[in-house]
Amino acid sequence: MFRRLLIANRGEIACRIIATARRLGITTLAVYSEADRDARHVRLADEAVCLGPAEAAQSYLDVARLLEAARQLQAEAVHPGYGFLSENAAFAEACVAAGLVFVGPSAQAIRDMGDKRRAKALMAAAGVPVVPGDADVAPQGAAGPAASDAPAAEDPAAEDARLAAAAAAVGYPVLLKAAAGGGGKGMRVVTVAEALPEALAAARREARAAFGDDRLLLEKYLAAPRHIEVQVFADTHGNVVHLHERDCSVQRRHQKVLEEAPAPDLDPALRTALGEAAVAAARAIDYVGAGTVEFLCQDGRFWFMEMNTRLQVEHPVTEAITGEDLVAWQLRVAAGEPLPRAQAEIACLGHALEARLYAEDPARDYLPATGTLWHLRLPAGEGVRVDSGVDPGDVITPYYDPMIAKLVTHGRDRGEALARMRQALAATEIAGVATNLPLLGRILADADFARGAVTTRYLEARPTLAAPAGGELPSALPALAALALHCTDPDAAVAGGPWQQTEAFRLNLPGRVWLEFTLADEAYAGWLVREPAGWRVALEGQPPVSASLRRLPGALDVELAGQRLRPSLARRGDVLMLWLGGESWRICQRRPGETPAAASAPGSLASPLPGQVIAVHVAAGEMVEAGQPLAVVEAMKMEHVIRAPHDGRIGAVNFAPGARVDEGEPLLVLEALD
Ligand code: ADP
Repeated sequence: MFRRLLIANRGEIACRIIATARRLGITTLAVYSEADRDARHVRLADEAVCLGPAEAAQSYLDVARLLEAARQLQAEAVHPGYGFLSENAAFAEACVAAGLVFVGPSAQAIRDMGDKRRAKALMAAAGVPVVPGDADVAPQGAAGPAASDAPAAEDPAAEDARLAAAAAAVGYPVLLKAAAGGGGKGMRVVTVAEALPEALAAARREARAAFGDDRLLLEKYLAAPRHIEVQVFADTHGNVVHLHERDCSVQRRHQKVLEEAPAPDLDPALRTALGEAAVAAARAIDYVGAGTVEFLCQDGRFWFMEMNTRLQVEHPVTEAITGEDLVAWQLRVAAGEPLPRAQAEIACLGHALEARLYAEDPARDYLPATGTLWHLRLPAGEGVRVDSGVDPGDVITPYYDPMIAKLVTHGRDRGEALARMRQALAATEIAGVATNLPLLGRILADADFARGAVTTRYLEARPTLAAPAGGELPSALPALAALALHCTDPDAAVAGGPWQQTEAFRLNLPGRVWLEFTLADEAYAGWLVREPAGWRVALEGQPPVSASLRRLPGALDVELAGQRLRPSLARRGDVLMLWLGGESWRICQRRPGETPAAASAPGSLASPLPGQVIAVHVAAGEMVEAGQPLAVVEAMKMEHVIRAPHDGRIGAVNFAPGARVDEGEPLLVLEALD
């Protein structure tokens, strides 16, 4: 086994790899960008070097800098994690050329599977069923000589014609994917032939921006498949095994949100066939290391979709049911050791779930959110594992993946794993950045999900799960918010705090306190009035209630109108976060005389994220219709189309293509017509 391992990654996966390497007695070597100087993975590693600026292209994606770092730190092996360069054949090759062990498959296997077209052709040749698509209709030279890093340029017009013919042959709806793709980027569902040209153009742009390769692939879009993937492992001695399957059907925009193992309610014969097909797939390309063979399953059949030649984000659910450490397996295989277990020795015990906690704003269609995690409490307990790359006070920047943590629960059966996940989510507290936590909570509370075996259309078909919480506020909440605000208010005249010293405050405090605040977009104002046993909360427009309370560290123990409540609290300045019953609320205290921040100018269309304007489709003075695309902003390698919210006339265009814009900056002014 090597003694010094460079981890060419950041965030939770870098921390995850460090944990295993340390357990195996390997010295851990981290790399970081200037934005990550104080990141957790740097703090955990034995040694670290800075790669360069925050932009990934100049740090985590810079092969030359990484190799230089490996030399400087005297690394013997490199673990690429997932994302970044983990599926970059040139990086794998460069590591080997520099005398380093690359913890992963051969560059050839990465190339074979990294190109989705070529992968499908190879799998079809190996007898694995593949999703019907353009390859069947007009075979390309995909299965020919090895793909290179610089794919031959294609004539876009001829390609578009070929893909249009393929779409007509397999029948709509069809799905466009980037041949070099991943992470759902560049994917477009096209339901009618008329929409194909615009979709092709957009998918190409997105593919070029994200992967530097704009070749596309077209497939039949299956109506309601399940995404089931098989974890495979192979060593350099010819052994190949699988470690059972994972069901990753809960997705949003083709991206995984929740995963589980094993797949619920899967026909045993289908399960066996999937395992065998995955092993056959790995054998067909002389695979070495950890890989995931992804399938779509529908109506008792399955089709190969793609193979990921790396460790997967959701590997912890496999670790939970098998009791194995997949990173340890990777390191052993990379060091030339045989697989630690034979197929028959690989356990499948109980059930495991993983929820991906992301910094995403539900109120803005789950766009990545940024901010400082000024309060962060992650769950712990029996059957609960948390993989995270951040600590309280850390910043979620716009530079990298906005994942905050992965919550993993394991139980004797699916019911127990679900119950533990519900508790884990309810115990999670995050302030400073919007997250998808409410979405995860709603999925775990949903009866259809609890029944199991959902399809990839599950979330899309249930828009209320993703919708920002509106509806009824719990009736006690405004009064609770008022009490919580006052007893966390650093400006309240309460030396020592009245909440522990009931008697003292009666002597020292005024008999009543005026409070103004906003909660769930509503403004509240009213009096807190001292009473012999506590407070009377008299908010305008609300029935007055009596309360007694005790301050606990980070929480409040309240009896309010006969109800016992124990919300958790975190406060920064005039913002108070309150968690209760798995939900959270943001409360803003307003000091009398303050006016709420002025809204942005009416009619202006703001950029949803910090990013770059890549297209402006209109000019000042032009008449537009509701829904018409006006501009495209690229942020985090995704295109966001700004559409006209109503009919009107363009009053001004503030940015030209190529310009960088900040979140909230007005891109265009759209004037309504009277
Ligand atoms: P990426 O590599 O970008 O993650 P994948 O090819 O793995 O893309 O597909 C991601 C998801 O998109 C799948 O899990 C599935 O939900 C959906 N998907 C992909 N191909 C199809 C298809 N042919 N029909 C229906 N859904 C599909």
